[in-house]
Amino acid sequence: MSDYNLLIDGKMVPGDQTMPVLNPATEEVLAQCPRASKKQLDKAVAAAKSAYPAWSGTPIEERRKLVVRMADAIEANANDLARLLTSEQGKPLADATAEVMGMAGFFRYLGSLELPMRVIENSGDRKVEAYRRPLGVVGAIIPWNYPLLILSFKLPSALLAGNTLVVKPAPTTPLSTLRFAELVKDILPRGVLNVITDANDLGDHMTKHPDIRKISFTGSSATGQKVMASASQTLKRITLELGGNDAGIVLDDVDPKKVAPGIFEGAFQNSGQVCLAIKRLYVHESVYDEICNELVAIAKNTVVDDGSKQGTKLGPLQNKMQYEKVKAFLDDARKNGNVIAGGSAMDRPGYFIEPTIVRDIQEGSKLVDEEQFGPVLPVIKYSDKDDVIRRANATTYGLGASVWSSDIDRAHDVATRIEAGTVWINKHLDMAPHIPFGGAKQSGIGTEFAEEGLAEFTQLQIINGPPAA
Ligand code: NAD
Repeated sequence: MSDYNLLIDGKMVPGDQTMPVLNPATEEVLAQCPRASKKQLDKAVAAAKSAYPAWSGTPIEERRKLVVRMADAIEANANDLARLLTSEQGKPLADATAEVMGMAGFFRYLGSLELPMRVIENSGDRKVEAYRRPLGVVGAIIPWNYPLLILSFKLPSALLAGNTLVVKPAPTTPLSTLRFAELVKDILPRGVLNVITDANDLGDHMTKHPDIRKISFTGSSATGQKVMASASQTLKRITLELGGNDAGIVLDDVDPKKVAPGIFEGAFQNSGQVCLAIKRLYVHESVYDEICNELVAIAKNTVVDDGSKQGTKLGPLQNKMQYEKVKAFLDDARKNGNVIAGGSAMDRPGYFIEPTIVRDIQEGSKLVDEEQFGPVLPVIKYSDKDDVIRRANATTYGLGASVWSSDIDRAHDVATRIEAGTVWINKHLDMAPHIPFGGAKQSGIGTEFAEEGLAEFTQLQIINGPPAA
């Protein structure tokens, strides 16, 4: 028996099987969660397909009202959702509350966008209009680091554009999404939104499904490749938001005390489990020791504990698999660098790892070359600006980057030469629903947020005829 249910065709229904969900701070079972069968996924897709004609035919103003009502429902239940998010994801309650409120903000903003018809030409014998039409059933696949926020990157735009949805959260963080589904199920017409949960075994079926027209996926680059391959069989539209190995570049003119807190936050937020976190920090040799020392001082004062305890700044890693992965990065750090803060898993239940700073480390080590997705930051020394730009770009990833300097013009010049979807100056991780977001190179395909993101949930249709008499 489970307190949680799938949302299929407007009803909360039990899964054909159940699976346990753990609290990563205690490793205890938090709840039994439904585990959908292939048959249930097919039912969810069929429900979304049959809801599509009426939903896509509903005026956008009506759809907008319902998207905004979903934002109201999220806000009205923010405390409960945040507590649940902390207990399944691990993040501190203040961060979980910020995630839930951010989710409501994304629903409100993205729900306010317009999809106007554009007249391309209206001349003597030709009137050409461009319309944005919905696609049909959209499959949204979500990772475990920001289960609710990443859902809000996709859902409001997909719905506003007139699509119907099947959502699949990650197997280790399904509960807050199922609770959200329960809260909003009566706001939307039956079948418009469906939520199924799996044990990492339904993604392939979903991405191959002939009745799904688009997959909006956020997760690792390795899974993104599988999604692209299997979606190709039915030539689905895809938006892929994938992994990153963001470089932070600290120029020689910074005030180390001033920039260190922002750099630390950019690297360690959510215990480093952020696609866009600073994952490699390049520091000019003239300020290298000072920056290392400042980061160590912050790391040593950072409270790592159960996210439900007041005062906790960093929670545990989200799941055992990620915890084991990050421990392998710690082994590499000890071998290839000089660990100056942290360096160990904590001797207690839960997937806790000390915030770790590693200096005297170079490319060629696992910690610099791969995505650690955890609280372990390599700090790399450089001496030449052109050389550091080359090194920052020497990766298959291209999600984000940041440049830190007292001279904005110098920082801007470096920023324009970095191959990444977003480059920040003197900050990292500043995101908002009106600022388009997407990865370069193997960090993704397509864009989310803003008008550009909304357009990806549509198909362009051109009507080309004579002007009306
Ligand atoms: P993951 O790729 O393992 O899983 C993501 C989702 O894909 C989960 O819901 C999972 O069940 C599902 N999935 C697994 N196999 C699948 C398959 N064959 N077909 C379709 N779906 C499948 O990623 P994760 O470990 O949950 O998340 C961490 C990764 O996600 C990191 O690399 C991180 O950088 C990236 N990420 C990227 C962004 C972004 O916006 N670019 C945001 C958050 C996380």
